[in-house]
Amino acid sequence: MASDLNRVTRGEAIHEGKAKIIYATSASDLLIQHFKDDATAFNGKKKGTIANKGICNNAISSHIFSLLEKEGIKTHFVEKSGERDMLVKKLEIIPVEVVMRNVIAGSLAKRMGVEEGGKLAFPILEYYYKDDALGDPMINRFHIRAFNLATDKEMERIEREAFRINEWLVAFFDKIGTTLVDYKLEFGRGPEGVLLADEISPDGCRLWDKQSGEKMDKDRFRRDLGNIPEAYDEIRRRILGAG
Ligand code: ADP
Ligand code: UDP
Repeated sequence: MASDLNRVTRGEAIHEGKAKIIYATSASDLLIQHFKDDATAFNGKKKGTIANKGICNNAISSHIFSLLEKEGIKTHFVEKSGERDMLVKKLEIIPVEVVMRNVIAGSLAKRMGVEEGGKLAFPILEYYYKDDALGDPMINRFHIRAFNLATDKEMERIEREAFRINEWLVAFFDKIGTTLVDYKLEFGRGPEGVLLADEISPDGCRLWDKQSGEKMDKDRFRRDLGNIPEAYDEIRRRILGAG
């Protein structure tokens, strides 16, 4: 397997997104996710760069995916193939963003008219339709079924996996002095069925220091809090130090 992977070479860019470039490879079933330093917020209205963000997010995400695989969670992760590159299984992304919440923050605080920071008695799972032009509107299982975004069987698996992932991730972050407030997951379908895809990094998670409550994620960029590269690097240090 390893020797075959060594022969996989990067092909043409097939998609340039807000934070990553997706490249085809010499293997028809594999892609490379290349992590950029570009950062966007508020549906692309705020743009900037965060020094070394791509390197941190690739290191963080690769490490978390490999640990999740060991826990029996199936992901698209194959290997970290470069400082900014992750070799992944090519999937058809299901256009449903899965948001998991453990602590009240962001749009949930606004929607419910409450302060950020309250712990939820139970985790909340929400669905958003992955469509930048529409600003990723919130949807539910009935929209997903009526618009044929995914089958009921796929959604049952996604829901089960999302709660398993959440239980493991919350405990993992807690052990490294970090509260996993909320985050976004994406799933895709391929020959092996539905797999966890995309990334898990401070770009798509809210991470607060357990002691001080300090924000250590993209909210520092969204809310102009400064020390942004330092926060991403500290999360990388905590995660990679966790073994
Ligand atoms: P966006 O396209 O939303 O701006 P990114 O800059 O993160 O986001 O680009 C990465 C794109 O690659 C996303 O659209 C994501 O859904 C997609 N993607 C992630 N993992 C895979 C995969 N294994 N196969 C195909 N596409 C993927
Ligand atoms: N999130 C994301 N991409 C999106 C929407 C949300 O990564 O397109 C993440 C976000 O970083 C946060 C969580 O999902 O960790 C919940 O986001 P929320 O609904 O509170 O939206 P926000 O107020 O961040 O726009």
